Amino acid sequence: MIEKTLVIIKPDGVKRSLTGEIITRFEKAGLKIIGMKMISLTKEFAKKHYPEDIIPRIGGKTLADWKEMGIKTEKDEKTIGRDAWNDLINYVTEGPVVAFVLEGVHAVEVVRKITGSTSPHKAQPGTVRGDYSHISMGYATYRGFGGRNLIHTSGSKEEAEQEIKLWFKKDELFKYKGVHDEHLV
Ligand code: UDP
Ligand code: MG
Repeated sequence: MIEKTLVIIKPDGVKRSLTGEIITRFEKAGLKIIGMKMISLTKEFAKKHYPEDIIPRIGGKTLADWKEMGIKTEKDEKTIGRDAWNDLINYVTEGPVVAFVLEGVHAVEVVRKITGSTSPHKAQPGTVRGDYSHISMGYATYRGFGGRNLIHTSGSKEEAEQEIKLWFKKDELFKYKGVHDEHLV
């Protein structure tokens, strides 16, 4: 049940000086930071993190938003998804990001809960996206820019495993006893 998960503070979070505030939220929940780095992504690396496979999913999210916003389109999920994906790659490479790995009980699910919904306009207050952003994915894609939602967090245990391998070498992750550990064992 003790899991590891990846968090990336995207360029908007770093530029808005929200790095500390965002890290604090996860630390206060008792999650342990076991690795951390600041890095400027190349387009090539960004595409490894966000492979083309996600195009239908992000197209679907945009379409759902557009439907609610009353925006009609002839374009299908894949076409819209490809535009959103291109915007996303530009967005995550527009400035440095801060990446870290968190460890804790049910860490993947807990971190997603603290993150909030993908589209900030749907993210609950008390979540990172809900408290510090407000736009919708539909709006961003309509205007032709990547949906700025401050952070990436792994969506599942499988995603977390793959992503941690991609972002961190083994010797960049640390084992140590935190004060919360006595309640975990
Ligand atoms: N995204 C976007 N438009 C969309 C859906 C997603 O720009 O309609 C971007 C957004 O930055 C999101 C990222 O693509 O965080 C990855 O999408 P995913 O579905 O994995 O959402 P997440 O796991 O980040 O909540
Ligand atoms: Mg995701």
